[in-house]
Formats: sequence, C-alpha cells, structure tokens
Amino acid sequence: MTIDLHLHSTASDGTTPPDELMRLAGAAGLRVAALTDHDTTSGWAAAAQALPPGLTLIRGAELSCRWHGEGESIALHMLAYLFDPADPALVAALARVRESRLGRAERMVALMRADGIDVDWADILAHAGGGTVGRPHLAAALIRAGLVADTQEAFGPRWLGNGSPYRLPKEDLDVFEALRLVQAAGGVTVFAHPRASVRGRVVPEELFGQLAAAGLDGLEADHHDHSPAERAEVRRIAAELGLFTTGSSDFHGTHKKVRIGEFTTAPEALERIVAGATGATPVTGVAG
Ligand code: AMP
Ligand code: ZN
Ligand code: FE
Ligand code: FE
Repeated sequence: MTIDLHLHSTASDGTTPPDELMRLAGAAGLRVAALTDHDTTSGWAAAAQALPPGLTLIRGAELSCRWHGEGESIALHMLAYLFDPADPALVAALARVRESRLGRAERMVALMRADGIDVDWADILAHAGGGTVGRPHLAAALIRAGLVADTQEAFGPRWLGNGSPYRLPKEDLDVFEALRLVQAAGGVTVFAHPRASVRGRVVPEELFGQLAAAGLDGLEADHHDHSPAERAEVRRIAAELGLFTTGSSDFHGTHKKVRIGEFTTAPEALERIVAGATGATPVTGVAG
C-alpha cells in the first residue's frame, strides 16, 4: 500500500490543480494521498470529487508556524490532517496567515522592482489564481522574466533564498497556538521536515518534547530535504517520545524534482492519524 501524506496543488504553491493531482496520484500507484496545501483547505472539494477508484484522500493542510524560543524565532511547518475545515478559530487563523503572505509577497516584489528587477505584482497574483501565495510564485515570475533558469536558482541567496535582501518574513502562527487550534478542530498534527538543515536553522531537540506534551502526534522523517543522518535522528526522537513517523514526497509539481510517492508512510502511522482524528474522514474514490 503506497501512502504519500504531503502533496501541494495550485490551491497553494504547487503547479498541479487538485483534481489533476488526484489523477496523477492514482496513476503513480498511490493508494492513499494527502492534500496538504499551505494554510488553506480550498483544494479539498475538487480533490475529493476527482478521486480515481480505490484512491483514498486524506484531507489536510501545511500550517506556517513559528517557534519563539530563546534568541531569533524559527519558522517551521506543521502538517495537519482530518480537521474540521469549518472550525471558526482555525478558519480565522489560516485567513490571517494567507493575508499576511499576500502583503509580504507584494512587499518583496516592490523591493525587487526598486532594484530594477522586472516582476509585476498583478501578474504574479493572476498566475497564483487565488491559491495561497508563496515564494515559488515569485520564483515563477523570475523564470518568466528570463532572470533565472529554474526554481532552484530562484531560491539562491541572490533572489529569494536565505541571505537575500528580498526575502521578507511572513506572520506565522505561534506553533503552540497552531497545535491547540488543530486539536480543537479534531485534527492530527505532524511536524513537517523537522530536521531540514538545508532550509536554515532547525529547532533545538528539547522543543520536540514540549511539542509532544502540547499535542503533537508525529514527525515527518523521510523527506527530500533530510539527509540519511537527519532521517535517523528524527526516528530516534520519535521513538523516545512515542510519536509516529511519516515519509512523504512534498510534491509541488514542476517546482521540484521529487516524484509523487518517492517517499512513503507505513500503514501503522496512517492508522494512528485516522484513529486520532475526529474533524473529517478519509474519502475513497469509487468506480463509476
Ligand atoms: P514561503 O512559504 O513563501 O516562504 O515559500 C516556501 C516554499 O518554497 C515551500 O513550499 C518550499 O517547498 C518552497 N521552496 C523552498 N526552497 C525551495 C527550493 N530550493 N526549490 C524549490 N522550492 C523551494
Ligand atoms: Zn510549498
Ligand atoms: Fe514545508
Ligand atoms: Fe510542503
């Protein structure tokens, strides 16, 4: 049984519409696929309606969070599964984050334009098509302008990546607040790529115990941004804290080279997600 619990669509910064994504997931041989767009559930309905026979959809989202520890705060991502998409507090929190992403991206575009870089905010918004706006949308604009060859180059220090003068922070959810919100909405949480040092600073190990005590359920171990040593470290921490581990592609369409189903999750972890969730149910495609 092939289970991939982290996929992005055009509802955020992926390049595949949610319905097409479900068809691709079925064609890739998945039995279970989670739709986890950044800070939105807007792709859920289209994905659920497009399920090929036998493919099960786990409805989810990837929440933009921040840990305000000692010193500089650290951004982190929480995958949330099978929560109630109408929970008012969670709906309001996600709307706040999406709104802040818009302002931040617009300010990044203004900074680039002030330096003579030919990117246009209205054009970027139009290409985002209503999906949660993120840096990959700015990367796509740089590619269209012929300024960079690909997304990888756009995420370098000269443009959108760490060390770039154009990279601005967004207003993320406090991570403990996010855990409370998802729990109250009946969902299950998994800390996404928690040891991805290629993305920047990672959280201190003590934080994992505090997050587990605050309701965190699992850790994403197998992810393309984790080295083999980082995967092993995540497994060790999870075992010590009684958390389950997952593996996922974090597919973003043409933004990344990773394939759907390139990393997968064991059925036992999926069972814990389904058993722990009360806010939404898995949906399975039926023939005809
Ligand atoms: P943002 O949420 O706006 O800060 O943008 C982060 C998004 O950019 C995440 O979804 C990442 O998957 C994506 N991303 C970050 N680094 C890269 C990279 N080097 N290549 C492609 N996508 C990236
Ligand atoms: Zn993304
Ligand atoms: Fe992420
Ligand atoms: Fe992701």
